[in-house]
Amino acid sequence: MRILIVEDDAELAGQMMATLKDAGYAVDHAPDGEEAHFLGDTEPYDAVVLDLGLPVMDGLSVLRKWREDGKTMPVLILTARDTWSEKVSGLDAGADDYVTKPFELAELLARLRALIRRAAGHASSELQCGPATLDTRNARVWVSGEPVRLTALEFKLFSYLMHHQGQVISRTELTEHIYDQDFDRDSNTIEVFVNRIRKKLGVELIHTVRGLGYRLESENAKASD
Ligand code: CA
Repeated sequence: MRILIVEDDAELAGQMMATLKDAGYAVDHAPDGEEAHFLGDTEPYDAVVLDLGLPVMDGLSVLRKWREDGKTMPVLILTARDTWSEKVSGLDAGADDYVTKPFELAELLARLRALIRRAAGHASSELQCGPATLDTRNARVWVSGEPVRLTALEFKLFSYLMHHQGQVISRTELTEHIYDQDFDRDSNTIEVFVNRIRKKLGVELIHTVRGLGYRLESENAKASD
């Protein structure tokens, strides 16, 4: 899962980025509204944290432009003051949620998890596929109750597939959602990661769809369809 942080306060941006990276997200940063608008327009983010008070272009304008352009990614706004009017304008402009500064990073994380899983159609913070469970709250994975140790990148990839169960996901899409902007991306390595994850899971959940990509699905789910 890949998140864009839009915040001109370098210290706060740094704290949010460190927290999100620790929690297993790929994270990009935009320090002003113009760069934010460009990144949100060109990169496929799973969620955006958008400060409203920004240099060059304010957050509300950025958000309105994205929504006018048909960008539907979940957006959580940061409101500087505890005024109801800023929240109302933000929500009306297409924001999905907000937190008021100052806030606890744990609350920001919880709200982002909820936004991301709801956008993917999941109501619970524990995602299930056959014998596999992924807890989005602590980035842990189990198979039949046994913990599975995944590296940070393996977890990002598996988490993306778990959020989009039953869908065919291309290697390009995976690449775009597990690496941040600065990473030297190579979609050929995706296959290597997938094979490692398959081995660690020990169960056949990630299916190769020849020429198209991968689909995460449990055999039981398929049989009961
Ligand atoms: Ca600001």
